[in-house]
Amino acid sequence: MIVACKHCDKLINVGQLGLQQRAICPVCHAHLLNCKSEQQQWLNAFSIASLLFLFSSLYPPFISFSQRGLSQQMSLWDAVILLSEKYSTALALMFIFTILIMPLVVCFLVLITNSTLWSRLNPHNARWIAKALSYIMPLNLADIFLVAVLVSTFKLMSYAELSMGYGFWAYVLFVFCFVELLTLIDASTLWQRQQKQFEPKPLLCGQSALSQSLKQCGVCGQLTSQSHCPRCYAKTFFRKPHTTSRAFAWMLTSLVLMVPANMLPIMNTINLGQNTFATIFSGIVIMWQDGSYPIAIIIFVASICIPLFKAGALFYLLFEAQMCKNPKRASQLYRWLEWMGKWSMIDVFVVIILVSLVQLGSVLTVEPQIGIVFFATMVLCQMMAVHSFDPRILWDKLKTNE
Ligand SMILES: [Zn+2]
Ligand SMILES: [Zn+2]
Repeated sequence: MIVACKHCDKLINVGQLGLQQRAICPVCHAHLLNCKSEQQQWLNAFSIASLLFLFSSLYPPFISFSQRGLSQQMSLWDAVILLSEKYSTALALMFIFTILIMPLVVCFLVLITNSTLWSRLNPHNARWIAKALSYIMPLNLADIFLVAVLVSTFKLMSYAELSMGYGFWAYVLFVFCFVELLTLIDASTLWQRQQKQFEPKPLLCGQSALSQSLKQCGVCGQLTSQSHCPRCYAKTFFRKPHTTSRAFAWMLTSLVLMVPANMLPIMNTINLGQNTFATIFSGIVIMWQDGSYPIAIIIFVASICIPLFKAGALFYLLFEAQMCKNPKRASQLYRWLEWMGKWSMIDVFVVIILVSLVQLGSVLTVEPQIGIVFFATMVLCQMMAVHSFDPRILWDKLKTNE
């Protein structure tokens, strides 16, 4: 089978893959295809297990917290209700979307694509399912939430007694199943089961699809010269439309939001009637002074270094797309940006967990502040910037230089 690499646009003849083999692009080293044994059964098993563990983590106690004889218990569902009733509906919606709705939708869509219904679906409808899956999957924050739970427990351990409930352990099992499920989902094998890929003849392997006036369908990967994909009927483009200007605009917006996100307080701790407002940076300084060095370093890297690095790296990629000096290195950098985008969300979840858990009236209460909403929006803008960047433009100028 001949496929076009999504990262460098070169046509590669993959041939027949053996079990447990995966194909890597020889030009840019991006992952092309994989072939896992009994993939469908594993997909079904992991999606059903994820759903079961997710539902069993919602209502039982997640963490309990006690200090000076007062105790507070939190389940994930309580946290959502508390956030929406007492503080911010936007924060509650973001929380419920990432920890509940997103995994639910992914599991159901995977079950549909694995059923006999999938091959009988009209390609128009199948396209919407595949599109939804590809948009939602990168927004998986379940594993980040788990890291945030661990960071919050370390933060609270010094001045309160904490214990993990059944909800927490069910959630840990859910994250393991769900992360495994996401690594198994493969858009091209999914479409092969819907409709077989066909090859427009003649094709020159090792050359880019663009040089042969071929467009790669953004949904199913089919190569075509037509304005609509003949396999899934999606509109086709040589490159993502307005990729540089859109990536630039999203990143510029994120840089503007970075100012209030870092200057405004993200939370307020009320300890015996006394208010202490903390910004991202002052929170890190307090943790460092308390001796929680590893946590302070994690938050510093995730909340301050990664967003700045991402902005610098994206501007470098936009520059590199014009100059085309080292497209291989630039492609690697892009894959890195794609992978680490969501890690900056740790601090947002830490604040959500602390707010939901630490509610002991005037003795000790944590309240969210507006800074955290700016921060979460800033991270989302950066993820959108990376998403709207088309890595194939990094290689386009190389062809004309040669
Ligand atoms: Zn490639
Ligand atoms: Zn298509």
